[in-house]
This record gives sequence, C-alpha cells and structure tokens, in this order.
Amino acid sequence: MEERLEQIKVSGLEKIANAKNTNELEEIRRELTGKKSELSEVLKNMSSLSPEEKKTIGMLTTEIRNAFNDSLAKKEEEIISNTSVLDEPIDITIPGNKPKEGALHPITQMCYDLNDAFSSLGFEIYSEDDISSEKYAFDNLNFAKDHPARQSMDTYWLEGTEDKEGAERLCLRPHLTGGSVRKLLKDGAPARFIYPGAVYRNETTDARHERAFYQYEALIVDKNISFSSGMVMIQTILEKVFGRKINTRMREGFFPFTEPGYEIDMECLVCGGKGCRVCNQNGWIEVMPGGVIHPNVLKSAGLDPEEWTGFYINIGLDRLVMMRYGVDDVRLFHGCDLRFLKQFK
Ligand SMILES: [Zn+2]
Repeated sequence: MEERLEQIKVSGLEKIANAKNTNELEEIRRELTGKKSELSEVLKNMSSLSPEEKKTIGMLTTEIRNAFNDSLAKKEEEIISNTSVLDEPIDITIPGNKPKEGALHPITQMCYDLNDAFSSLGFEIYSEDDISSEKYAFDNLNFAKDHPARQSMDTYWLEGTEDKEGAERLCLRPHLTGGSVRKLLKDGAPARFIYPGAVYRNETTDARHERAFYQYEALIVDKNISFSSGMVMIQTILEKVFGRKINTRMREGFFPFTEPGYEIDMECLVCGGKGCRVCNQNGWIEVMPGGVIHPNVLKSAGLDPEEWTGFYINIGLDRLVMMRYGVDDVRLFHGCDLRFLKQFK
C-alpha cells in the first residue's frame, strides 16, 4: 500500500508540474485532492488494516496531500506571474487615443481677462448670490417706487414673495449694481472692486438680447476722484482686452443710481464701424453704461455724499465677447452648441 501511495505522489506531482494554465490546474486539483481522488479511495479501504498500519498510512496520505497543496499553490503562482495581462502583444508604435480637452467658455475667458486687467489696477474681485431683493435691486439704488423695471414685465420675481416688499420681496438680480451697496455696507470706503456675474431680465430674446446674460461691473469710491480718471481707466481696460486702441465715444445716459450717468460706446468691431445688425446699423455699440454714483446710493451704503464720491462702469461681457470674435448673434454663446464653442479653444 505504501508503494501505491508513492506512485500516486510521483504521478500527481508530475501532473501538477506539467499543467499549462489555471483551468488545467483546477482540474488536476480536483483529481488529486477531491472526494473521488485516489488518495480518498486509499483512506476508504483501510478497514482491513491493523491500527499501527492505519496510523502509518494516515500520516503518509496527509503528507502527500500537503505536498500536493504546496505544489499546486506554487504552480498557480508561477502560471499567473508568467501570463500576460493582455491577450495580444503590445505595439508601442501605434498612436494613442487623444484625451478630450475642455476649454473655458469664451465669456468666462473674457471675464478672467478683465479680472487680470482690473487686478493690475488694484481692484478687488467680489461676488454675491444671484438671488437679490427689491431693497438691494431697487430701493437702495434710488429707483423710484413706480419705476417700470420693478414690474414683472422686466424682473423675475420669486414665487411666494410677490406681496411682500423691500428686503422680503425676492428676485433674480436684474443687474449687479445691488451688490455694490452690499459690499460697501460690509467693507466701507475707500473701495475699488469689480463684481462679475449673471443677471436676469424678463425679455424677448433677439440678436442682442438674452433673458440671462453676464455683466461685469466695477466701482470706485474715494475722496476727490476726477471724472477724467474714469475715462482713462476705461481706455486702459479696453486696450488690455483687445490688445489695441479702441475708439470710444460718450453719450449722456440716465440710470437712477448715477448722477450724471453716461453711455460709453465702442466702435463696432464686427463691421468696423460700417453698420451691421449687431450695432443696429450705426457703427457703434453700447458696451458700458456708467456714471458718477448718486448721493442717495452713497447714503444707502452708509457713506456721506459730501465726503465721498465714486463712479460705476458696467461692462456688457456678452457684447465685448461678440466684439472680440466678430460674432453677430449673442444667443450662440448661450446655446451650448459644442460645434460653435469649440472654435474658441
Ligand atoms: Zn456693426
């Protein structure tokens, strides 16, 4: 019987050594150590043996079983470490798959460029929530109680707050200017900061108008600042953004929060001043309303109008982007069409 066991051991180890893959090895494992293995058969037929013999044979079968298990484990490790992870050989000369690259939206890019330009002039960057209130959007900014902008035709009032007034009546901010008073109340004067963001108007869209668009406002509050320094700043910013001198003109404009207010027009860069649908055929495009901050707004911000003065400029980001790339429909920038947006990478 011991001879028989020795044969089982030798042939078993040989089978393990010759296994070519893990499937084959699993089959051999079942054959050598399973319930129907030769080893199990030997153990089943031990009834006729003496206790002494049983002990010897029992120890021998355990030893063989352990030898099989050790050998199986080693072989398995050997097979796995020698197997390539890939079914096919690697060809390192084949070009790889190019990862898809994203890019900043042209309006975001313009915003960042302006941030850089203003930061270099010592401006702080400020931002606040898109939801504002009647108090911040209108009351603080010297809008008359019956000003048409307060009506729902122009402003998106938030449901549930229509019957309220002041700070309780909430809206999507129709302009950024409300944020200026909030910032002045928080940090006081002197101040020079910019605050970019989306604003919302309840209006019909066309080539120049969108329901949600981006504004970029800058405010300086200080003692004894002259109007001409504001003009120099506007020229500097435009030159930084467009990389060359841009023709501008100034017209009188009315905004409740300024006195006096003005409109800064720049020469239409889409048509070069000849007239197109972007500039309404007149060669100029209105990009920056602004003006000297109204005394009532300074008072809302807790500042003495006798002591402090300041001025706003409000840059139409969308229009500047249209000018930068010569695009004649503002809606394209908000259409999420990658075929269009990919051009600006
Ligand atoms: Zn034009």
